[in-house]
Amino acid sequence: MVSLLVSADVTLNTADRMTALLKTQPESGMELESVPIPEPGPGEVRIRVESVGIDGGAEALIYDWHESKRHYADRLPQLFGHEFAGMINAIGPDVDGLEAGARVAVEPVLGCGHCRFCRSGSFGICPDRRIVGLHPDLDGALAEYAVVPQERLYPIGSLSADEGVFLELLGLAVHGIERSEFEPGDSVAISGPGSVGIAALVATVAGGASSVTVIGTEDDRQDRLPLARELGATRTVTAENSEVELDEEADVFVEASGHPDAVSLASSATRRSGEIVQIGIFHGSETVPVDLTRLVRRGVSITTVYGRRDSSWRRAIAIAENTDLSPALGPSFPLAEYERAFDATRRREGIKITLHP
Ligand SMILES: [Zn+2]
Repeated sequence: MVSLLVSADVTLNTADRMTALLKTQPESGMELESVPIPEPGPGEVRIRVESVGIDGGAEALIYDWHESKRHYADRLPQLFGHEFAGMINAIGPDVDGLEAGARVAVEPVLGCGHCRFCRSGSFGICPDRRIVGLHPDLDGALAEYAVVPQERLYPIGSLSADEGVFLELLGLAVHGIERSEFEPGDSVAISGPGSVGIAALVATVAGGASSVTVIGTEDDRQDRLPLARELGATRTVTAENSEVELDEEADVFVEASGHPDAVSLASSATRRSGEIVQIGIFHGSETVPVDLTRLVRRGVSITTVYGRRDSSWRRAIAIAENTDLSPALGPSFPLAEYERAFDATRRREGIKITLHP
């Protein structure tokens, strides 16, 4: 929980204070404030945040005070920001094997550490998981510094901070592929060319897909679909109301839009004995109709994906080191220009919009 707020004058931070972009009111917007620089406790490190992403399903909805995010009202002010990368700046007691100056990306999901899911590396589905930058007790990274447990850090070497931010999404997409029966040479269709769908594109291209068709809407025609082609999509199409003609049924259909219509599309565009990988989250429409009988009769399986495993990070980093991710990164803005960044998010500019505190 953020404490000791003072009036915002971001140019007058003393040595022990930093600028943070806080959600202060249960209404649209956030505000720059001066807050204490957090101190790492036992097992924790402090990171100088170099880049923090705006997630269209999280920070953007919180900023706009979407009705699905109003449960945060009770605990304001809150410091959000859960996709981030930067440089280790201070190390708390009982931390081994990490040094100040190392550049890292952050797995924001903290599992309990001892349930059967955490013990098997699947901390993302721990029933007691908490997310740095979304849980009210775990301050996020829309700020100059953030503190995280050492075991949630992944060294990124020479990758840029924006690439480090993208790893969180790429790891999610990789996890989807890990859980699926995708094999090299498979044809892939992806609905939703947002950051998760684009990450799925990168992951399946790296995994040897024979073709990847990316399906967007008219809103994506100018920006996101051309970027998808730059990143290896063999075909891009636009669909309205799930009406789209695909050349062939996909072996694997990655649903990354979180739009109920896209589930219908996936059901009709996946081949017999194929697989739908559901990554998209249906914000505000938790119950989604699916023609399950049709899927059963055609032997189509549905695999759901949430979060990442430890192995997803290792693979995502390897892919990022061998892929030009630049079409997926940006636009980027200084933290002080956050209003422009959230405007750009609303206008669906680029793929992964970031702030640089
Ligand atoms: Zn657990």
